[in-house]
Amino acid sequence: MRNVAELKQSVSVLKGIGEETAENLAEMKIYTVEDLLEYFPYRYEDYSLRDLAEVKHEEKITVEGKVHSEPSLAYFGRKKSKLTIRMFVGQYLIKVVFFNQPYLKNILIINETITVTGKWDAHRQTITATEMQAGNNTKPKDFEPVYSLKGKITTKGMRKFISVAFGQFGQAIEENLPPSLVKKYRLLNRQDAIRAMHFPQDPEAVKQARRRVVYEEFLLFQLKIQALRKFEREHSPGIEQIINQTKVQEFIHGLPFPLTGAQNRVVTEILTDLQLPLRMNRLLQGDVGSGKTAVAAIGLYASVTAGFQGALMVPTEILAEQHLESMKALFEPFKVRCELLTSSVKGKKRREILQELADGHVDILIGTHALIQEEVTFKQLGFVITDEQHRFGVEQRRVLREKGDNPDVLFMTATPIPRTLAITVFGEMDVSIIDEMPAGRKSIETYWAKPEMLDRVLQFVEKELSKGHQAYVICPLIEESDKLDVQNALDVHTTLSHYYYNRYKVGLMHGRLSSEEKDSVMKQFSSNEVQVLVSTTVVEVGVNVPNATMMVIYDAERFGLSQLHQLRGRVGRGSEQSYCILLANPKSEVGQERMRIMTETNDGFVLSERDLELRGPGDFFGKKQSGIPEFKVADMVHDYRTLETARHDATLMIQSKVFWSAPEYKYLRNQLEETGVLEGEKLD
Ligand code: ADP
Ligand code: MG
Repeated sequence: MRNVAELKQSVSVLKGIGEETAENLAEMKIYTVEDLLEYFPYRYEDYSLRDLAEVKHEEKITVEGKVHSEPSLAYFGRKKSKLTIRMFVGQYLIKVVFFNQPYLKNILIINETITVTGKWDAHRQTITATEMQAGNNTKPKDFEPVYSLKGKITTKGMRKFISVAFGQFGQAIEENLPPSLVKKYRLLNRQDAIRAMHFPQDPEAVKQARRRVVYEEFLLFQLKIQALRKFEREHSPGIEQIINQTKVQEFIHGLPFPLTGAQNRVVTEILTDLQLPLRMNRLLQGDVGSGKTAVAAIGLYASVTAGFQGALMVPTEILAEQHLESMKALFEPFKVRCELLTSSVKGKKRREILQELADGHVDILIGTHALIQEEVTFKQLGFVITDEQHRFGVEQRRVLREKGDNPDVLFMTATPIPRTLAITVFGEMDVSIIDEMPAGRKSIETYWAKPEMLDRVLQFVEKELSKGHQAYVICPLIEESDKLDVQNALDVHTTLSHYYYNRYKVGLMHGRLSSEEKDSVMKQFSSNEVQVLVSTTVVEVGVNVPNATMMVIYDAERFGLSQLHQLRGRVGRGSEQSYCILLANPKSEVGQERMRIMTETNDGFVLSERDLELRGPGDFFGKKQSGIPEFKVADMVHDYRTLETARHDATLMIQSKVFWSAPEYKYLRNQLEETGVLEGEKLD
């Protein structure tokens, strides 16, 4: 009788795998028979014979045909050589080149049949051969797996080990999905899928096998996340906030604008969460300018009407100050007390705020990560909002959440996260999306200009300035660096001050200024004493000066798409047409593609999907805090439909009674248990 436990045995039980091979495999994190069987190829070599007419330039092909000319051999230096023959393949006469295999000269005989594999150069009608075999194609298979390998393990060796493993233990591979799902999606069973991954007959077989393996990978992953979420919900009861609906409605009606439909919808989602005895764990996504601040204010106010304190945590001091100002204005008539806490709030003032916070006299505290320092204690923290959450590490988020007695938590982000990533990385959260801009917003016209065109760009800027508007000029670095040939804010500031001398005032903003200096520059820009603000990316988030209609970004190729979009979001905040000019001379294809995409769309969600495609998920957030899992076969970008399906199925399963009891789910339940999520252990 075969059984699953057999698969957990060390690879050394396999014939032909001794201690040394086992050690080599261990370096590739292959320890058990199961690990080996699930070590899937990353691509396949296709040896099937093909008609040359169908083969694309630079594609790898295998052809069979007759040698037509005597080989000609040329040497370069002592070791390097090039052997050339002509060969008839069907009706085509082509050239075949062999590098550094001079001994083939005696094997290649006119009119004999040979089989050649190599890269096809369609322009020169030439194959650069990597493999050659006298006679007809006698490969046992047309289609062979290629594994990513380390150390001493060879491709041939790997193929053999897996073949042995399959022969000895293939029968022990059991189905882990319930039959209903296998049937529903017409999936291969587990054993057949794993077999076909390693020993496929043709590309179609791989496709079917992959489909099954990808679904299984995503389903297990989503089950873990959903189980974790269920566990968290059940074991961390939240506060049932009794909010005063009448007051909240008054507050909403007191806003200077009616809410958009999307704002209304997410406000309802947030207020519902606040009132439930569960802890809110929600992500609010909304493009720059979609009006998240108002939503945050309504939520905070609602919590205050229920007798709690609120906290709003933002990544920079400037942003904290701006938020304080807009919140104060909104809350003043409602007798809600807001205070600011950043590292520049010091001494007596700081002690006072901390004291009053502990006494419960401060209703809403706004600040940077200073909010999560130990000395900060709230009397009764009910609601925590973090803005631009992707800038805070997972750890910081956790500390803030633990400040109160299970406060509700809302994470806001203006970096629209592609749905695929959101449901993966933030899979255990609820997601609210503001997908509608306030009425009357014009889209920002974006142009891509080469640095040589700077003069014309500055004239264009001047035209906007002459209408009484203002401009941002963004540079990647503060100071000149001899390593990087980038325009820097200081230089650009000097140049532009000369250029607009006596006509417009040019301000300078960067991260090395003290917060008083930053504050004063920002104030001058807000009040239009300064018309042009040269800045590094410190203005990236949240800054709001509606009269600024022009943005020039130097060395735009140095920024990622999301960041460019964030920066661009500083303009287009008023009713006037706004412009963004990207000064860039990108060398790489990807860089050029980024510039093009920027000029084509203003939609942050579209941009972020494209960004994900261009960069791949690993780079999207920066690795450290990403929490992006690695999949063996599945690819979040290309398989996102399957990911969504798996998420849907996992959600239903976790919620159903059947999943937790019926025998057909036993295997999946066991796998969840192994991961420890059912005990509330953290996922890695
Ligand atoms: P973000 O989502 O980027 O934080 P903000 O909350 O800063 O956006 O809002 C951007 C601008 O839009 C602000 O000037 C704000 O007053 C305005 N705004 C927000 N909601 C609406 C609305 N429903 N109608 C009109 N203007 C709005
Ligand atoms: Mg904002």
